[in-house]
Formats: sequence, structure tokens, C-alpha cells
Amino acid sequence: MTTYWQKEIECMPREEIEKLQLKRTKGMLKRAYDRIAWFKKQYDAHGVKPEDFKELDDLSKFPLVQKDDLRDNYPFGLFAEPMENVIRIHASSGTTGKPILGGYTKHDVYDVFAEVNARSLNCCDVTSQDIIQNAYGYGLFTGGLGIHYGGEMIGATVIPISGGNTARQLMLMEDFGSTAITCTPSYMIYLAEEINKRGINRENIKLKVGIHGAEPWSEKMRKKIEELMPGMTAIDIYGLTEIIGPGVSVNCTVNRYKGLHIWEDHFLPEILDPKNDFERVAPGEKGEIAFSTITREATPLPRYRAKDITRLNYEKCACGRTHARHDKITGRTDDMLIIHGINVFPSQIESVLMDIPQLAGYYEIVVDRKDLGSLDKVTIRIELTEEHFSDKVKDIEAFTKEVADKLYSSLLFHAKIELVPPGTIPRSVGKAQRVVDMRADKI
Ligand SMILES: [Zn+2]
Repeated sequence: MTTYWQKEIECMPREEIEKLQLKRTKGMLKRAYDRIAWFKKQYDAHGVKPEDFKELDDLSKFPLVQKDDLRDNYPFGLFAEPMENVIRIHASSGTTGKPILGGYTKHDVYDVFAEVNARSLNCCDVTSQDIIQNAYGYGLFTGGLGIHYGGEMIGATVIPISGGNTARQLMLMEDFGSTAITCTPSYMIYLAEEINKRGINRENIKLKVGIHGAEPWSEKMRKKIEELMPGMTAIDIYGLTEIIGPGVSVNCTVNRYKGLHIWEDHFLPEILDPKNDFERVAPGEKGEIAFSTITREATPLPRYRAKDITRLNYEKCACGRTHARHDKITGRTDDMLIIHGINVFPSQIESVLMDIPQLAGYYEIVVDRKDLGSLDKVTIRIELTEEHFSDKVKDIEAFTKEVADKLYSSLLFHAKIELVPPGTIPRSVGKAQRVVDMRADKI
């Protein structure tokens, strides 16, 4: 039986959703224009006013918002509320080291963020009967607290264990009888393999739903997770800090291979063609997805480019929900790497390397995983300068460690460093191929 958190909204007839979107989008545009100087400047420069928005299609008259715009207005330039009304700030990493921020009023935390996560949990059959082991990171990252509030709202028992510490994860999973787990898909595979390796009695594992997101993953990976965890359904949850965090969209259990329901009364999606001046694509066509946060108070974002490639399906789902579904995300239009759920741009790695004088400035980042059961492995091959090239093994070892530590302290992931002789890395005339992603055929 399907469980709904807000059936009247989740199963609302299409015309009703659109009526609500129209009203709320008007409000968002007015709010952005009246309260945020940057939006007023942008819209004035484009010759558009909030009053020009009369029907949903008019949204395309308004300029898009890019990640760089958020960075340029760091920290609070795009906040529509005074700080006394902002009760929380989340952040994700950005290319220059300055994070991308999202602000939340009380309304944003409880009536939007917690609510869409409550709906998302019910959508994949997690209810007040469940014990949710929340292995998403807590902190500036939206994952932990997003699921936490949604889980509490539906009355489930939430275990705020956060990410990592596999031994403890497995101990509590057995002792508490966790029935749902939230974590990145790659960490789920790792946990599943550890269950086997440690010879844990399967009878003690009660997980029936795994809710996974924060990194792109394929149907192949879902199959692998479900094979490794008999009795557990693997669900995809999607979101981004700029929009709210997790809970922008989610698979339903009834139709988990047919896309993720977007909570369209809060997040208005559009699919755009980056090769055709960001015009909207024909219905059902693939393109880059943009979202408008039509109910968010603190940081309203009209037409934000999420840079994920997907398409929309407006058919009513067998689960009864009418909210549009997007296909599982299959690629991004920029070069961001997502490693163990952490967003990393090659330029961030570069900026760390550039500060080390013994390095020549030629490097390549190899991202690989041995097989489906392994975590991503990052190897960074870096050339030494002629001057510092040394064949003394001991020196190289110590220096390798120093570079690895520097990378860890600024980017928080462990990379294997391979120092190579001058002239080893292929030179390119045009845009350098910095990233070699070997994961594609394995995930
Ligand atoms: Zn559905």
C-alpha cells in the first residue's frame, strides 16, 4: 500500500499544480526583485519585470542564475531576509574554496525542507514504523539534517549516526534493527561488502530500504546494491544545496525504474538546451535541468541551472502521484567530480598543487574504482620540476606524503599521489585533459 505524507498535494490534478506554481512563481519573482539588489539589477538589464510573468511559459523571459552568480554574491548577497529571520545556513563546496550557500528561514526548514523529505520518505515506503540509520554527513552538507528533520516529521526513529565509521554503522544496524538507511550509493556497496566480509548474520540485518544520493549512480549500480542486500530496495534521492538539499526529487517504490518525482509545488523544473541558447526543449526531450525555488523565503532562486542532464515525464504515475518525474541523472554539463559524495572541481586540486614549488604544474587526475564493490579511488599523477626531480626513494616518499596531506587538509578526500619525472604527462595544445574518469564502464 502506498503511503502519502500530503496526498492532496502529491496527487493533485495537473491544472491545480500549475495554478499553484503560477501563484508561487509570481511571488518568488517579486520577492527576488524587491528584496535582492542583484536580481533587480539583472532583471532591469534584461528589460523584464516580475509583472511580465503572467503565465508559466513567461518564465523563460527571465535570465538564468548560474553557480558563479552565487559565488560572486558570497556570503549573503542573495539573501532575501534579514539575518534575524535566517535560522540555518548550509553550504556546498565551490571551485575557489568559497562555498555555495543556502539560507533557511523557519518556514524554509519546516514547511519546505522537512516537508519534502517527509514526503520523500513516505514515497519510498518509509513510515513511523521505521528506524532510519542516517549515514549521510551532518554539518554544512545538507544531507544529514535534511533527512533527519523529514524522518522525525513522519515519526520514524532517526539514528543520527552521520557518515563513516563502518564498524559502528554495522554494529548499530544489527543492534537497533535499522529498517532504512541513507548514504551515498558507493558507501552502501562498501557497507554491503563489509557485511559479507565480516560474516555478519544476515538474519540480524533488517534493512528494507536504502535511500541513496549525493553522487550520480546508474541502474547497474542499483542492481548491484539490491543483489548484495537481499530484501532491500535501493531508492534514488536527488537534491542540491542551492535548491534546498535532498528531497528535491525521489523515486517511488511502485515505479523506481521510471524516474524521480519532483515536488513541483516547491521546485519548478524546466529542461533547457545548452546548445541552443538555453531555449526550452520539446516535451520529453533531454537537456539540462533548471529549478526555480518557488516557496523558499531566505534564498529564492528563479531559474537556477543545476547542470544535470535529464528529461521530464508528466504522465501520472502508478503510485497515484501527479508530480512530474525526471530520469535518473546520467551526466553533468560541467567538469565537477563527485568523490565519496564530496564535490570536487579539478581546479580545486590544481590550486593546491600550484602552491607547491617543487611541482611542474603538469598533472592528471585519474578517478577509478576496482569494481562495483569498491569506493572511488583517486590517483593524482604530478610531474616534478627538473630541478627537484630526485631518484632518492626516501625523499620522494616523504614528499609524496606531504602533497597527499596538503590535498587532504583542503579537500577532505584521500588521493594517491604519484610523482612522475618531468615530461611524463601528455601536453595538450588546447584545453588540457585533466581528468581521466575510468569509472564510466564500471558503474
Ligand atoms: Zn510514483
